[in-house]
Amino acid sequence: MLKIKYARICVVLLILAGVFAILCPIFSSVSANIILPIISACMAIVCVFATTVIRLSKLKCPSCGKSLAALRWSQEYFCPKCGKPLAYDK
Ligand SMILES: [Zn+2]
Repeated sequence: MLKIKYARICVVLLILAGVFAILCPIFSSVSANIILPIISACMAIVCVFATTVIRLSKLKCPSCGKSLAALRWSQEYFCPKCGKPLAYDK
């Protein structure tokens, strides 16, 4: 049984990474402070990295062991490799 919360954490982290990636050039254009865009870029990288770690460690297919290529917010998903349904908890 896969934990849906990990998939949701990954979704949120990827959204955050996107937000930080967008903020980065905005910060650099509105502020002379070089620190903010650097922090923003670092946060985006950290979010993507954390998502990858969670995927590799927590979101593997129970049947074939492949780390999931897709993240889900809701239930019902089939492994892209072996085609077996992936059961998430509630
Ligand atoms: Zn599989």
